[in-house]
Amino acid sequence: MQTQEQTHHQNFYIDGDWSKPATSNRIDVIGANTGLVIGSVPDGAEADIDRAVAAARRALDGGWADSAPAERAAILNKFADALEKRATQLTRAVSMQNGMPLSLAEAYEGGYVVGLVRYYAALASAMQVEERRASPLGFDTLVRRVPVGVVGGIVPWNYPVVLSMMKIGPALATGCTIVLKPSPGTVLDCYVVAEAAAEAGIPKGVINWVPGGRELGAYLVSHPGIDKVAFTGSTGAGRKIGEVCGRLLRPVSLELGGKSAGIILDDAKMEDVLNGMLFASFANNGQTCAISTRILAPASRYDEIVDAIAGMASGLKVGNSLDLNTQVGPLASSEHRTRVEGFIAKGKTEARLVAGGGRPKNVDGGWFVEPTVFADVSNKASIAQEEIFGPVLSIIKYQNEEEAVKIANDSEFGLGGTVWSSDSKRAQAIARRVKTGTIGVNGYVIDLASPFGGVKASGLGRELGPESLAAYQQIQSIYLPAG
Ligand code: NAD
Repeated sequence: MQTQEQTHHQNFYIDGDWSKPATSNRIDVIGANTGLVIGSVPDGAEADIDRAVAAARRALDGGWADSAPAERAAILNKFADALEKRATQLTRAVSMQNGMPLSLAEAYEGGYVVGLVRYYAALASAMQVEERRASPLGFDTLVRRVPVGVVGGIVPWNYPVVLSMMKIGPALATGCTIVLKPSPGTVLDCYVVAEAAAEAGIPKGVINWVPGGRELGAYLVSHPGIDKVAFTGSTGAGRKIGEVCGRLLRPVSLELGGKSAGIILDDAKMEDVLNGMLFASFANNGQTCAISTRILAPASRYDEIVDAIAGMASGLKVGNSLDLNTQVGPLASSEHRTRVEGFIAKGKTEARLVAGGGRPKNVDGGWFVEPTVFADVSNKASIAQEEIFGPVLSIIKYQNEEEAVKIANDSEFGLGGTVWSSDSKRAQAIARRVKTGTIGVNGYVIDLASPFGGVKASGLGRELGPESLAAYQQIQSIYLPAG
């Protein structure tokens, strides 16, 4: 019989303490590698959200909103230290829940988040919140950047710690407080983050977590005590949340789905492309919003590129996500695998399968699918237009650069992308013509210090970089007429 380490929590982290849930409902956590229960947490109810929002409001009004940015910077640095100490716990928790290969989890859910929190500490310490401006009308105006208030943060299961921290970082730097609703698919990691928050001395009520499903998320979005919504998730959910926030005139940022293009130019070095694609196109078993899953290959090198990518995908090491050698782990849930397999079945009718297409033979249990590659894909095909969110690539042939740019932009989405070339200037010229919020040349790494986000159906607003602070601030102008 397989044994399994399990973690069970009884309370929520609300108001700086471990708070009893309003109901006895629970969320069971199923391990992606095994399909077995690996833990459980209470399932949030509306009354829990009410308590969390009230605590966040008290913290905001009780001094946090007016605290000095330097004080918040010091607390953020302590938070980063406390997270760093818990990196192993965080990375294992995430990897076991959603199947993220441990090496990726160590780099992102353990490492990147620490750098992210330190980055926001640095932004806070350099923050100017008031500026006295001379008006052309002959008097002065005081322009103040004040915290927007209580933030409702909703995150998905694919990078649960990084995506939460992309909201916690700017919220705390600007003097906001936050209530986070993690996805029911990844609920164990937020308890580790909450312990780090407590150790760092983050004042009570400044960050609160209530895990739960989509109804609970909808309740948080329209809660009268929320001043701003920060959402990461699917485009479908984002549209619904955008509608509610539009009606309420509530500020909202939406980080949504993608179907990005990886444009291989005819001078690209195939070895570099294949090395880079492991992350740029397959990161987290394909469960990454900004990866390049439509591969645009020049007609002049088409067969060579199809063979090379098919060979690379077939050679990837698929296995238990906790094994440091694993390159592709299982998908996050049984339901998600069924959805991905539905796309693979459709792909077999739309295009030519050149790698994978089934379940790997060498693994037991868990929600594994083989890294899969389709060639001769039309950009109109469903596997080229819809977000699959699994290790499935579609290779599309193009005749010239004009056509490559046209195909790249012929998508509902506009989140990421890559251009591969041995001439960086040539690649940059193409990158400038691709209508997406971000794009990488010969690789794709999301920079902490630059804005990240999408256009079109990939979202509204930007996270990261100094630009991200504006979404967490309101501006007040105090006119000071002479005399
Ligand atoms: P999802 O939209 O189903 O759920 C995301 C979160 O929103 C969950 O916590 C869920 O409980 C909650 N939710 C769902 N419907 C809601 C509603 N109507 N009101 C309030 N909350 C609601 O997405 P998922 O399957 O968990 O995550 C995968 C999706 O997330 C993919 O589409 C992926 O591209 C996207 N994503 C985007 C980014 C980005 O930065 N653009 C990053 C990661 C993931």
